[in-house]
Amino acid sequence: MQPILKSTKLNNVCYDIRGPVLARARQMEEDGHRIIKLNIGNPAQFGFETPEEIVHDVIINLPNASGYTDSKGLFSARKAVMHYTQQKNIRDVQMEDIYIGNGVSELIVMAMQALLNTGDEVLVPAPDYPLWTAAVTLAGGTPRHYICDEQAGWFPDLDDIRGKITPNTRAIVLINPNNPTGALYPVELLQEVVEIARQHQLIIYADEIYDKVLYDGAQHTSIASLADDVLFVTFNGLSKNYRAAGYRAGWLVVSGEKRHAKDYTEGLTMLASMRLCSNAPAQYAIQTALGGYQSIDDLVAPTGRLCRQRDLAHAMLTDIPGVTCTKPQGAMYLFPRLDPKMYPIDNDQDFILELLLEEKVLLVQGSGFNWPTPDHFRVVFLPNVDDLQEAIGRIAHFLEMYRKR
Ligand code: PLP
Repeated sequence: MQPILKSTKLNNVCYDIRGPVLARARQMEEDGHRIIKLNIGNPAQFGFETPEEIVHDVIINLPNASGYTDSKGLFSARKAVMHYTQQKNIRDVQMEDIYIGNGVSELIVMAMQALLNTGDEVLVPAPDYPLWTAAVTLAGGTPRHYICDEQAGWFPDLDDIRGKITPNTRAIVLINPNNPTGALYPVELLQEVVEIARQHQLIIYADEIYDKVLYDGAQHTSIASLADDVLFVTFNGLSKNYRAAGYRAGWLVVSGEKRHAKDYTEGLTMLASMRLCSNAPAQYAIQTALGGYQSIDDLVAPTGRLCRQRDLAHAMLTDIPGVTCTKPQGAMYLFPRLDPKMYPIDNDQDFILELLLEEKVLLVQGSGFNWPTPDHFRVVFLPNVDDLQEAIGRIAHFLEMYRKR
């Protein structure tokens, strides 16, 4: 029999956060090894629990959640999202502009499938959350990576963006607060991105899933609040802000210059209909989350667990010779740089695999985030202080051995 091959559509699609090194780590665990995992941003797994009120309301509503809902989502969930957009100063959002999905992930794939034809280009950040690159590629588009500048606090390099726009460019993706760098973009920078989009008639896709996970009193501005004459598609959900990644609850909001986007939104609605609806029990959590008050102190307060873990992980990593790292202002990741003179790495996936095999610590290599050079890795700082200390101690030991080679 002929081997059964996967579709060629998948030829250039990569999602290395759950790639071959993770498969190896799983195998090691099966063999009885204890691996410290700093690889996936899944808050509940590390004791950042979903607020009780949300869990309670999902349980209460379970008996009502057996049927399909409207393809775009429950009225109550969409209404709550609508109110949220008002709080974020995104103007003129109507109920029909809101789509509830099985997490932001599903909606990113749908948004790209509905937009792109072969040859269309989308500006995606490097480094990025790699689902964006994968979704553009799967939809037949071409991701064009614009550089976020580490020297400038990982802010997008606007000249690089301008230089990469072609007649085929349809959209620009902005991840703010950013995964993997932890950068939070100031209003002035967002305004410049809006101006570029305005000049070149680009859609702005704003992934704002970490908009409440902010440190040091920082404030988040939704880019969609800055203009009415550019089309914005804004993404958010319960996975991070409400520590409910397993519920699979996210939303997408179309705003701004909607008049010319009717055909596109028809496409989105068609794709939403084809998957019938998103997970109904989780939709009941959205109104509770957005309509109520749940403390987020364990994430963001200066004395809160996550903030302390950020400080510890940042201090320990930057203590290692040849390691530098911008301190995150949001999200739950660090993206340290290894000085290539001290750590001449050819293949960063092999480097991360070697670290796993020798020190039993699991990270994701920078190239997994479409970073072009093999000199970065991502650290998730969700594990507790003891585990972080042990893991970064082991990373330091591994790097010391590496320097002595
Ligand atoms: N966008 C970013 C920037 C993320 O970091 C993640 C998950 O890590 C997602 C989207 C996916 O979120 P969801 O759980 O809502 O699918």
